[in-house]
Amino acid sequence: MPFDVTRDSLTGLVGRDAARTRLAEWLSEGVQVHALLIGLRRFDAVNLAYGAAAGDTALIESAARLKHFVADELEGSWLVARSSGGQFLLVSSEPCSRERWQLVATQLLDALSRPIAAVGGTLRLSPRAALLRGLDGEGADSMLDRLGHALDTLVTQPGRRLAWADGEGTRPGRSAAQLEADLLQALDRDEIEVLFQPQYACGTDRLIGAEALARWNHPTLGRIGAGGLFAIAERTDHVPQLSRHIARIALTAATRWPGDLRLSLNVTPNDLAAGDFGVSFAALVKASRFPTWRLTLEVTEQVLLADVAAAATAFNGLAASGIKFALDDFGAGFCNFRYLKLLPLDYLKLDRSMIEGVATDARDLAVLRAIIAMARALDLAIIVEGVETEAQRLLAAAEACFAYQGFLRSPPLAASAFLTDASA
Ligand code: C2E
Ligand code: CA
Ligand code: CA
Repeated sequence: MPFDVTRDSLTGLVGRDAARTRLAEWLSEGVQVHALLIGLRRFDAVNLAYGAAAGDTALIESAARLKHFVADELEGSWLVARSSGGQFLLVSSEPCSRERWQLVATQLLDALSRPIAAVGGTLRLSPRAALLRGLDGEGADSMLDRLGHALDTLVTQPGRRLAWADGEGTRPGRSAAQLEADLLQALDRDEIEVLFQPQYACGTDRLIGAEALARWNHPTLGRIGAGGLFAIAERTDHVPQLSRHIARIALTAATRWPGDLRLSLNVTPNDLAAGDFGVSFAALVKASRFPTWRLTLEVTEQVLLADVAAAATAFNGLAASGIKFALDDFGAGFCNFRYLKLLPLDYLKLDRSMIEGVATDARDLAVLRAIIAMARALDLAIIVEGVETEAQRLLAAAEACFAYQGFLRSPPLAASAFLTDASA
């Protein structure tokens, strides 16, 4: 494996100098940028209290969450760097309002604040961020200086998480109550869009179906990705309502698809918490007239952690009607193999981090092969996601995986674009 000196060996991110160079290139091309400098507060305390290995885990996990977040939430190009010990830099070229950038920062800090499982116990970091919108004609060094100073001001203000580098106070942003009202209207006003990411058979490379992925086209904040959308819905207790709305849109679109193309829908813990999930979902599918045998529900371990017995009951009922189940994001977090036996699972859907290094790293490949062997022993078909290179696709096919999806073949598509492709 070639050793890339510009990358930090722990997190795989580029360092501050490489980021400055790239930023300077963008600026010389006249790109308008927004930036965030994130500092993990109490990071030294983590090292002291839990040991350096736990500190490393926290950094690796934070870098992974950061990358996932920007890949899912931002449009246009972006760069993520490890700027120093516990500091990360994010620069985005997406045209965006001040309000939106502040929302992005808030949601990113929420993602980084979630507990991290490490050897010494569960860690909680307190990330802070300085925000900036590039000024006309401003250079990279000036931006990085402004961000650094703004982040420093936060150190002395224990209760604050965000500071704009231009000295302006953070706007209150949209309050939770406003966002709640916005979300309710969004359901009525068709602002929730469902995209479809094609899935292909590994063996034949033919289209076999698509996964429905939600977006919120907010009238003033712009496009909010699925992560942000569900975070808002969760805070306001609207997840089941939002999920039903998405399922209805997706099922309606899928009834127009040709042939036997399959539809995959995601299920979150809050959907199940509602209690009547199995019954109400079955009714919804029936009303859509989409055949149950062409439907897959994707569930993550998060869904099962809450109440695996309740999940098993709901899923068994739906499985009896022909609906298939995939365990999603497998390998991304803590894998509890117990679920594999308790639930009516048909597919194991590997998290994209599992396929990332396989074409270049022998150990990553060994892990992948072991999981595939286990899945085979349990009679589960493997779906690979996040396939971005031809090498990854070939490998998935060589290992006899069932299906794949990823940017190599197609990003998530608008319903009409997917229908056009599927009918071609
Ligand atoms: P997920 O179920 O793991 O969905 C796959 C995510 O990976 C999607 O992000 C997709 O756009 C992205 N992706 C696909 N191919 C590639 C690739 O080759 N490379 C990379 N880097 N990324 C790729 P998206 O749409 O932002 O969704 C993020 C997560 O939000 C989803 O993760 C899912 O957990 C959740 N989600 C999305 N839509 C819904 C929904 O309608 N209902 C529920 N409950 N959850 C949803
Ligand atoms: Ca999924
Ligand atoms: Ca997934």
